[in-house]
Amino acid sequence: MKKFISNKEDTLLKAMEVINKNQHGVTFVVDINNKLCGVITDGDIRRALLDNYKLDSKINKIMKDDFIFAYEGDSIKEKLDMCNRITPIVNRKMEIIDYFEYKHRLHFPITEPDLIGNEYKYLTDAFLSSFISSGGEYVNKFERNFSKYISKKYGVSTSNGTTALHLALLALDIKEGDEVIVPDLTFAATINAVLHAKATPVIVDIEKDSWCISPDEIQKAITLKTKAIIPVHIYGQPCDMDSIMNLAKINNLYVIEDCAEAHGAKYKNKKVGSFGDISCFSFFGNKILTTGEGGMCLTDSDFLNERMRVLRDHGMSKSKKYWHDMIGYNYRLTNIQAAVGFAQLEKIELVLKNREKYESMYRSVLKCVNGIKFQENNLKHRKKVTWLVPVILEDEKRMKVLVNKLKGLGLESRPFFYPLSMMEIYKKYTFSNKESLRLSGMGLLLPVYSNLSRLDNIRMKLINFNNIK
Ligand SMILES: *Cc1c(COP(=O)(O)O)cnc(C)c1O
Repeated sequence: MKKFISNKEDTLLKAMEVINKNQHGVTFVVDINNKLCGVITDGDIRRALLDNYKLDSKINKIMKDDFIFAYEGDSIKEKLDMCNRITPIVNRKMEIIDYFEYKHRLHFPITEPDLIGNEYKYLTDAFLSSFISSGGEYVNKFERNFSKYISKKYGVSTSNGTTALHLALLALDIKEGDEVIVPDLTFAATINAVLHAKATPVIVDIEKDSWCISPDEIQKAITLKTKAIIPVHIYGQPCDMDSIMNLAKINNLYVIEDCAEAHGAKYKNKKVGSFGDISCFSFFGNKILTTGEGGMCLTDSDFLNERMRVLRDHGMSKSKKYWHDMIGYNYRLTNIQAAVGFAQLEKIELVLKNREKYESMYRSVLKCVNGIKFQENNLKHRKKVTWLVPVILEDEKRMKVLVNKLKGLGLESRPFFYPLSMMEIYKKYTFSNKESLRLSGMGLLLPVYSNLSRLDNIRMKLINFNNIK
């Protein structure tokens, strides 16, 4: 403690020496009885000198009565709001016994699951039921309610979004020699699932305005080997489903929707995931609805529903135990995870509204940044949802400045996905990639949460955001 202590009769020069030594920018001032009577920072001394005090002026001349300190036993949580970098802790006799240092800067991660609904309740219920594997009521309830929410007949839950995509491809009997069209701008899981099924992915370019897969490019890429299209509703933006479904119909192709980032988004007032032969969702921890890890395949087809259930469960016959007609997988979701998902689904409307508020906030406070562009939210027939908030800034240098400024404020940001066609392992599957390459490096995702607890914090941080030179 000694390195922090000055006496109130000391000079400003002496106080500066103490501060200089402790390197914490602050000194605790005690009286003749060793009781705390003030806290002086290097800033206080600087202001005093500018105010015509001299280096040999006494500290007690510049001391204020309302300095901040804490009693031993005080709750730190209550003090945090008002505390300085370094706060002395005293006993009831005002003798300094310790200090605490406020190092923890408020940090805003890119996102965080919101688990303050019935998650814990249902989770405990599932746990206590002892059905902690894939048997149990929550799996059925979650599948039923989620498929109903999207307006599909069946829901087949899976261990994650990637296994959902793989399961969909397997159920549609897509195999070696088949071509599957995927967009260049997506998370790698989309193309990996195609490769896991031993089919050949065909990477096509995105639309300039929506950043979703381009129907024109799909059309050009279709060959006699093409079996399916996987449109990805990227960053919550619905794909042009009319054009895609039309192409699929004309060319006799399957459509597997990748809805991992777009729970609740709509095209022509119908939810995404209600269009394809099978649609796949992810419930990973950073998605709009989460089960920790998890996924689901939705379909209207009795046949595909049955087939996916068998394939997800080791290929085991549903009528004859331990009899296998197909080489299956273990892709099941657990009852515990489903319990969390079931609770998440109860509040999805509120969650979507809350997330949208973050987006509106960013749109209004960041509009002063020259050249900043937000994701299109006015495209015909398309009602996007807010997953994270994507923005683009064409100038790479200014993008770096923006990232660093956000970082300085404790705000995490993420770059866009690299286009698949840029990566060595996927390059050879490229059909077209002009727009996706142009967009690459220009995009940044901003933090969004499912509840509003951080909305004003972030607004306050950004409100003084000046333009970036
Ligand atoms: C997250 C994501 C996936 C994969 O989901 P996991 O649950 O992480 O396996 C697939 N596609 C897209 C577009 C995603 O964002």
